[in-house]
Amino acid sequence: MSTTKERRPAIDGWFTVPDEPGRDGGVRLLGTRCASCGTPYFPRNELACRNPRCDGPHDGSELAEYAFSARGRIWSYADSRYRPPPPYVSPDPFRPYTVAAVELDVERMVVLGQVVPECTVDDLAVGMEVELTEGVLYEDDDAEYTVWMWRPVQ
Ligand SMILES: [Zn+2]
Repeated sequence: MSTTKERRPAIDGWFTVPDEPGRDGGVRLLGTRCASCGTPYFPRNELACRNPRCDGPHDGSELAEYAFSARGRIWSYADSRYRPPPPYVSPDPFRPYTVAAVELDVERMVVLGQVVPECTVDDLAVGMEVELTEGVLYEDDDAEYTVWMWRPVQ
């Protein structure tokens, strides 16, 4: 029996995966961006631009899909040693993991994400450059379910 399971994003539409048709081959967070004032939104905002100084129509037509920069610097980090409550899905049995809040290079927005499992808090530092990759959040009999993860830039 094959041990290669299908990989599926744990949540659709929040990030691109390697080899996805029409993408640049890297893992990128997907959100929206206001065409009038340039404000980026992650998770995606499709209702209306929330910038009070924006002179766009504020009816949602100003918002288009936007792929965020794939690199940033660690703003803060921590390890998580308890099983988060639902709706968060975690592996069973639970394995402690590390999370990092990363300020994206281009957008200067802080985005939270897990760090790749081979890294612990001892491997990280505030200001360290990291990049996006894809990692397995959990699996079942059918597939591995993936999310975006941060890893130190080599
Ligand atoms: Zn706007």
